[in-house]
Amino acid sequence: MQRIEHHYINGQFVTPHGEEWFNLHNPSTEAVIGQVRLGDEQDAQRAIAAAKAAFPAWSRTTREQRIAALRRMHQAVAAREEELMEAITLEYGAPLVRGRWMATYPADVIAQAIDALQAFTFEEQAGIARVIHTPVGVAGLITPWNSNAGFICNKLATALAAGCTAVIKPSEMSAMQTQIIATALHEAGLPPGVFNIVNGRGDVVGEAIARHPDIAKISFTGSSAVGRHLIAAGAETMKRVTLELGGKSPTVVLDDADFQAIMPLVLQAGFLNSGQACIAGTRILVPRARLSEFEQVAKQALGHIRSGDPRSADTDIGPMVSQKQWERVQHYIRLGQEDGATLLAGGEGRPEGLEAGWFVKPTLFTQANNQMRIAREEIFGPVLTIIPYEDEADALQIANDTLYGLSALVLGRSTERCLRIARQIDSGRVLINTLAHEPSAPFGGFKHSGLGREMGKWGISAYLEPKTLLMHGDDGHRG
Ligand code: NAD
Repeated sequence: MQRIEHHYINGQFVTPHGEEWFNLHNPSTEAVIGQVRLGDEQDAQRAIAAAKAAFPAWSRTTREQRIAALRRMHQAVAAREEELMEAITLEYGAPLVRGRWMATYPADVIAQAIDALQAFTFEEQAGIARVIHTPVGVAGLITPWNSNAGFICNKLATALAAGCTAVIKPSEMSAMQTQIIATALHEAGLPPGVFNIVNGRGDVVGEAIARHPDIAKISFTGSSAVGRHLIAAGAETMKRVTLELGGKSPTVVLDDADFQAIMPLVLQAGFLNSGQACIAGTRILVPRARLSEFEQVAKQALGHIRSGDPRSADTDIGPMVSQKQWERVQHYIRLGQEDGATLLAGGEGRPEGLEAGWFVKPTLFTQANNQMRIAREEIFGPVLTIIPYEDEADALQIANDTLYGLSALVLGRSTERCLRIARQIDSGRVLINTLAHEPSAPFGGFKHSGLGREMGKWGISAYLEPKTLLMHGDDGHRG
């Protein structure tokens, strides 16, 4: 059993002031596999003080110095890929293919931040003014459990690239991943205090960061409920806020689509990350005239989706991260039936043959409408809902009739028609006949899916304040 006691503050692994121990579980067996010692408000304050002290020097570093530091971070994190893979499988339950992506992503995302920094324009001319983009101050970075190592590295690399220092409050449920990343980043040899990591509960350490006057900016990935709370908590101290929140993304299947050909994309989009993905395509909009044909193809394809042991090569869907999450998913499967949707596949309980572990049957509802709770609320599990539509206008209306707006997928034969529809969907990202990712493009959500953007130059800009300089002699009235 692994015991993770130390936090990372001011360049050192230190014993926290907080004394609570939190159990870490293997979601595939439900067994307790470790414990992490949680920090308290004092630990948060200590980390913030360290980041504040490190800020003046770090904010004055050159682009080249930051690139050199990020390269060392990249190298150290890349060297930990196998350790990360093991932790991600053990404490999160990611199936092998997804786990491999999650183990390589933390290093990849640092490399992407280096690319963005190399190309970034810190000074530009606006008419007669010079505009310089200056780091905003100490950033508080708060991450969720569904890709903890990746989110830590993305937020931290971007903040450091901009010249900010940081205090990180990772998900308390992913402490093994955090420990590996902290060890790697320590090896990268950054100046003390430039980044600090405090394990702790959201309502204790997260809250202390969200309210502290020396935190200038919050970058948060997590639920919309906590995101809304963070805007309110940061208002008193006028914090800059970037929020990456939940989703209820539509997959719009057009009436000319080849159902056999597109079904792998539909299911991959829906069951991404065992359904525990903010961008999961969980509302599948299908033309009513071809509904029964779609149902048939979907049901057949679903028969090949395996939910079970994440270490098995033919597993597509691993366990839910926690008992709470498992119960939440079961609750929604019951709700869908009570609300009158038809269960096409899956249902309550564990998949056949699995007695323990927080496993869920891949579940597909059909004949649903967009007012049902399974169509409106983020379930965060492998539960998809088919909603029939009448015509293109109806499909668009349903796609946009949601509080969320993070991602959407449009599937059809004509790229031109798909593009026309994509332009009318209110969403931070719209994919057309692909699940491709582009790290240099902005990522984030409309409406309750977020505020601001991460990735590329948009990501760096979110940690900067533009400052306008006007000088006597530049106004055309020299002398
Ligand atoms: P969560 O909101 O419960 O927790 C996220 C983080 O916030 C955790 O570290 C938690 O400890 C912390 N937190 C909780 N209460 C807090 C408070 N009062 N003050 C400060 N911090 C607090 O989310 P989760 O259950 O860990 O993750 C799942 C959610 O994350 C889903 O809604 C999902 O859609 C969302 N998500 C969004 C994206 C995106 O990029 N848009 C990516 C992944 C996950």
